[in-house]
Amino acid sequence: VSAPDYQAILDEILDEVQLLLQQGDVANYIPRLAHVPREKFGMAVVTLDGQVFQTGDAREPFSMQSISKVYTLTLALDAIGDKLWQRVGREPSGNSFNSLVQLELENGLPRNPFINAGALVVADVVLASCADSRAQLLATIRGCTGNAQLRDDAEVALSEKAHGFRNAALANFIRSFDNLDHSIDDVLDFYFYQCSLAASCVDLARGFLFLANQGRCPWTGNALLSPDQAKRINALMLTCGTYDAAGDFAYDVGIPCKSGVGGGIVGVIPNVLAVSVWSPALNAKGNSLAGSAALERFTSKTGLSIF
Ligand code: GLN
Repeated sequence: VSAPDYQAILDEILDEVQLLLQQGDVANYIPRLAHVPREKFGMAVVTLDGQVFQTGDAREPFSMQSISKVYTLTLALDAIGDKLWQRVGREPSGNSFNSLVQLELENGLPRNPFINAGALVVADVVLASCADSRAQLLATIRGCTGNAQLRDDAEVALSEKAHGFRNAALANFIRSFDNLDHSIDDVLDFYFYQCSLAASCVDLARGFLFLANQGRCPWTGNALLSPDQAKRINALMLTCGTYDAAGDFAYDVGIPCKSGVGGGIVGVIPNVLAVSVWSPALNAKGNSLAGSAALERFTSKTGLSIF
């Protein structure tokens, strides 16, 4: 069977989402993100054999936000393996990504590594296992995106820190159950740093290809994870990567995805490709509104999904 015409499909999707770009709201609880124009839209596909397809603003860097949680999970699993699951669960939460309620009922053990509570515990594990966590995370992401210029945006991190009352509440709460070893400030600073990393659609499609390739970056040959661990991260992205919309994503899109409130979403089709989309305005669940629709169209038009 010949491969779908990815370029034609991306260009069609760019046309089809135009009206949707007026809907939803750009995240404004992080003031610095509120300035990003809602008209932006980019999409990129990178296939396992290295072909790159892109449309719209696919080369423009945006704030990764929660997409970075996949990379910190990768570092944590590489460092301590399955011991991680003593401190964070693997079930979808069914609550919003920054919810506090479940944490009390479940004794400070976050439901999964992709909600904020879980990501704070993962950040704590990374702090314990890397001499320089920021440098290690940056090197990892630069390595698998192939973009040596990729960097954080200190203004976004500061803006989030100045308004990060919920994340501070989560961290304090988790700490009260002894599920954080580092100081609240150290955990939050690293967490805000990871969220502030800026990448383009092309960077992120490249940067997630290792998850479509059994944990190994296809062009450097570098194994970030074992095939078994890569399989499990994909499973967690499918069940938890888009928060309380993960069921809808499995139904509509049908591939493992991870979203961020910067408006980016990255999807993985194991053994085939990685796809990423960016459109800043979000729906009520905190996922990119046009980005979610674009991914639904992508898997429908290509006929590619894991189901
Ligand atoms: N930095 C954001 C927060 O902690 C990340 C959330 C997200 O992208 N879903 O609220």
